[in-house]
Amino acid sequence: MTLTTEATEPLQLGGPQLAQRRNLVTEIPGPRSRALTARKTAAVARGVGVTLPIYVQAAGGGVVLDIDGNTLIDLGSGIAVTGVGNAAPAVVAAVTHQVAQFTHTCFTITGYEGYVEVAELLNSLTPGSHEKRSALFNSGAEAVENAVKIARYFTGKQAVVAFDHAYHGRTNLTMALTAKSMPYKSGFGPFAGEVYRAPMSYPFRDGDLAGPEAARRAISQIEKQIGAANLAAVIIEPILGEGGFIVPAPGFLPAIAAWCRENGVVFIADEVQTGFARTGSLFASEHEGVVPDLIVTAKGIAGGLPLSAVTGRAEIMDAAHVGGLGGTYGGNPIACAAAVASIRSYQDDGLIERARQIETVLRDELQAIARVDRRVGDVRGRGAMVAIELVDPETNEPDAALTSRVAQAAHADGVILLTCGTYGNVIRFLPPLTISDELLRDGIAVVRKALATS
Ligand SMILES: *Cc1c(COP(=O)(O)O)cnc(C)c1O
Repeated sequence: MTLTTEATEPLQLGGPQLAQRRNLVTEIPGPRSRALTARKTAAVARGVGVTLPIYVQAAGGGVVLDIDGNTLIDLGSGIAVTGVGNAAPAVVAAVTHQVAQFTHTCFTITGYEGYVEVAELLNSLTPGSHEKRSALFNSGAEAVENAVKIARYFTGKQAVVAFDHAYHGRTNLTMALTAKSMPYKSGFGPFAGEVYRAPMSYPFRDGDLAGPEAARRAISQIEKQIGAANLAAVIIEPILGEGGFIVPAPGFLPAIAAWCRENGVVFIADEVQTGFARTGSLFASEHEGVVPDLIVTAKGIAGGLPLSAVTGRAEIMDAAHVGGLGGTYGGNPIACAAAVASIRSYQDDGLIERARQIETVLRDELQAIARVDRRVGDVRGRGAMVAIELVDPETNEPDAALTSRVAQAAHADGVILLTCGTYGNVIRFLPPLTISDELLRDGIAVVRKALATS
C-alpha cells in the first residue's frame, strides 16, 4: 500500500480560516486524485459512485481543498449537510471535548446527557407547541423507517402514502417510498409492501395547478385507492430534494396535513434535506404554518457527523413498547455533541437570516441568466436551497444531457455543483451557510459560463 499524501507535508486544517477563494493549480481532477481514483476503483464497490473525483484534504467556510492543492467552491455542502460550515470551530471543539471523554456506551444500555439535550432542543425548536418526544438514529433513511414504524404502531394501520418525485432513502422500506427507479431502486427489489404513491404538486409541470386543487387530486386518489381506514401515515418532503427542488404550490401542504388530521392519519414531514435553516427558516414546514405530527431530520443536524432524529407528538412517539425503538449507534455521543453545537450555531450565528440573504443572491443571479437563456425553464426554491430546471425552450422537455454538460464544465472550473430531478435536468445550489457573497457570486459566474458554452 502506498501513501498518496507525503507524510512530510504539514497537516492542513480545515474550517473558516482556509483561504476563501477559488484556486486551481492542476487540472481537475489532479494527478494525486487520479491515483486515488485508481485505488478506489480497485477497492470500493462500483455502485458507490462519485460525482466529482477529487479527494479532499480540508474544507471550511465555502471552499474545499483537494490533495492536489486545488481550492474549489462548495455549492453542495456534502448534500445539504454542512450548513454550519465544514470543520466549524464550535463543532470541532464540542467533538474534541466529547471524544476524549467517552466515545460510545450505547444509549439504550447506559445513557448520557448529550442525547437528552439533542432531544430537548428538537422538541422545543420543531414546529408546534404541543408536548413532544424524540428518538435518535444514524441516517436519514433509518429515521424515516422509524417514523413509519412509530406511525404504524400508534394507528394500528399499515398503509403509507408517499408522493411522485419523492426521495426518502435507499434502505428497503425507503426504496419503496422513493419514486425514482434509476439509480435508486432498479434491480434492488422486491420492495416493502403497503406503500402507495400519490400525485405531487409540481407547478412548473402541472400547468400551475393551485395548491388546494392539487391536494384534492391527491386526496381523492388516496381515498379511492387506499382509504383512510387503512392508512397509517402520509410522508412528504415540504420541498422535494432529490426529486428536483420542487416547491409545492401554496396551500398544497396545509390541505394534505388538514386531511390527515381529520382522518386519523399521521402526517410525517421528511425534513432531512430542508431542515436546519436551509430554506430560510429553521424548518421548511414553517413557511406555510404546517405542524407535522412527526418530523424527520438528519443531514444538517450535526455539522457532518452521522445523526438523525424523529421528533413528534408525545402520544404518538410514546406509543411503542420499551425496547421497540433503538439501535447500537443511534444518538452516538460524539454526534450528539456535534448536534448541540450545530443547532446552537444555526440559531445564535444568524444562519437562518444568512440563508435568506443567500436566496436573494441566488435568485437575482439565476433569474438574470434565465432572462437571456431560455433553456433555463424555471428558477425555484427557498433560502439556500435553490435550483434551475433546464429544458428545450420550444417544448419544455427536460434536457438532462445539457444539465450533465453544465455540471461537468463547472467541476472542471473548480465548482462543486450537484444535479437532481426525476428527469435529471435540475441544477441545485446548496452552499454552506458560511459561504461569502463573493465566493457565491464567483460560483454562479462559473455556472453561467458553463451554461453559455454547453
Ligand atoms: C438524503 C435524504 C434522505 C436519506 O438520508 P440518508 O442519511 O442518506 O439515509 C431521506 N430523505 C430526504 C428528503 C433526503 O434528502
